[in-house]
Amino acid sequence: MTSIKEDEKKEIPEIIHDPQTNSTYQRLRFFGKGGFAKCYEIQDIATNQIYAGKIVSKKLMVKSSQKEKMSQEISIHRSLQHKHVVGFHSFFEDSLNIYIVLELCKRRSMMELHKRRKAITEPETRFYMHQILLGVQYLHSRRIIHRDLKLGNLFLDDDLHVKIGDFGLAAKIEYEGERKRTLCGTPNYIAPEILTRDGHSFEVDIWSLGCIMYTLMVGRPPFETSTLRDTYKRIKQCEYRIPSSLRKPAISMIGLQLQAKPSQRPSVDKLLQHEFFSSGIMPAALPLSCLTTAPRTD
Ligand code: ADP
Repeated sequence: MTSIKEDEKKEIPEIIHDPQTNSTYQRLRFFGKGGFAKCYEIQDIATNQIYAGKIVSKKLMVKSSQKEKMSQEISIHRSLQHKHVVGFHSFFEDSLNIYIVLELCKRRSMMELHKRRKAITEPETRFYMHQILLGVQYLHSRRIIHRDLKLGNLFLDDDLHVKIGDFGLAAKIEYEGERKRTLCGTPNYIAPEILTRDGHSFEVDIWSLGCIMYTLMVGRPPFETSTLRDTYKRIKQCEYRIPSSLRKPAISMIGLQLQAKPSQRPSVDKLLQHEFFSSGIMPAALPLSCLTTAPRTD
């Protein structure tokens, strides 16, 4: 008899072959598990190049909505190429699984950083927010709305450079002024206009960026309550408090992003020009020790 765990493992072969590019990968260590995907470190045996292999069992993809989401994720992600977006290398399938080969982000996501550090310093926030904004600027210039920007989807490489990933809820704006009406899933930092189903666009990402910046600087999310219902109520009323210990430029930038009316939120280009970025130290790089302890600020 084999246990369920062993059975599961068998379904993800140790040697993975991509018939299209004729590449062969060896499955190495387990990296993490998401809603549907399991992620492994994989190595191209011809080039020794290491990647992240996001592997989704076809058994789990029974509903047509799930299949649709997966193919949307792939078709959007494969069209993107940017320093601050997780690189998409290739994808293929066999009878058991779908395999997505991605740039490996060895330092996990900003979620783990947040859990370990809670509130981070202003220079660190500047360092990360600048990169996140450059990534989102690229997405918006390609008419892509990510729709689920959150700490867990902001991956980190060995230089602590941010890579935006997980395009499972992303959407493409097809014509100027289009407002999306539906969203199949539950974004973490959900904007009020999604909750009220008023139609939404790029501005929902700006809202999420406000939530991300708040969470990084305060150490907890802006609308957190003990129930989702109360959290949604607060979001709709845009009811949050910023600790007065934050400096003025940070308070101002968060306030601009967390406005109930989408049309009043600034674009990414505007945010990149905000005085928050010129009002203090912008580190050229951060040491890896910042994943666990605050850098010295003297
Ligand atoms: P899902 O979309 O099913 O939620 P995720 O995208 O969250 O799956 O990925 C599942 C796990 O794999 C997470 O633990 C995440 O940290 C890890 N992961 C995903 N992409 C990468 C990557 N490019 N590099 C390193 N780890 C990754």
